[in-house]
Amino acid sequence: YVELKQINKKFGDFKASQDVNFSIEQGKLVGLLGPSGSGKTTILRMIAGLEKPDSGDIMIGGSRVNDIAPGKRGIGFVFQSYALFRHMTLFDNIAFGLTLQKKSKKEIIQKVNELTELIGLTGFEGRYPNQLSGGQRQRVAFARALAPNPKLLLLDEPFAAIDAKVRKELRQWLRTTIGKLGVTSIFVTHDQEEAVEVADEIIITNRGQIEQKGTPLQIYKKPATPFVAQFIGEST
Ligand code: ATP
Repeated sequence: YVELKQINKKFGDFKASQDVNFSIEQGKLVGLLGPSGSGKTTILRMIAGLEKPDSGDIMIGGSRVNDIAPGKRGIGFVFQSYALFRHMTLFDNIAFGLTLQKKSKKEIIQKVNELTELIGLTGFEGRYPNQLSGGQRQRVAFARALAPNPKLLLLDEPFAAIDAKVRKELRQWLRTTIGKLGVTSIFVTHDQEEAVEVADEIIITNRGQIEQKGTPLQIYKKPATPFVAQFIGEST
């Protein structure tokens, strides 16, 4: 569903992406895993249209989107933190994209109710972000990203700011929920345990290049490069 073809991107002289090629099938939950500065966020931002590649093609759903504006790519985005509008209630946060799309009031209420139930926060609609826990806030951010029915969900270190115990619960929840919804999703992490627990497939980045793409099992059993072997081995 998503394909990057021969993507290169420099910031000044620094090569943030070098000959990046990969494709992701529809409905898969894929983790971009690599050390800090290896180019994960840059890849995500190029797919979202927030950053332009210097060369190469970005394909979404079979169409080249290089020249398509971020808002027209059918993408939902969840950031690490500060994702919610602080002055808006849970309801209004989730409704945000739908209001922009000028949906009817009835449709908005129905969709927000559905999503509030999905994230297990029915009854919390009137709360403001500072009246929710970190984990709850990230679930609201997730619901807000899903509200306009994106075909593709991009998550940039969605659990980074959450404490360890809640992070573990959230991972399981994300896996189950995305599995249920079947929406193609890509998430960035530098945490191998997280990638292994959550992802159907992992793409390993290093110095702007892709080292390997495979299922967690393939990557553990057959690391394609010395870098992957070392990186995966680090925490075990
Ligand atoms: P992290 O886990 O630390 O977020 P990352 O793998 O997501 O790392 P990127 O954020 O993609 O890495 O950054 C890759 C490199 O590109 C970094 O060295 C970063 O400093 C550089 N970089 C990213 N964006 C810009 C920019 N707008 N201008 C200049 N350099 C940038």
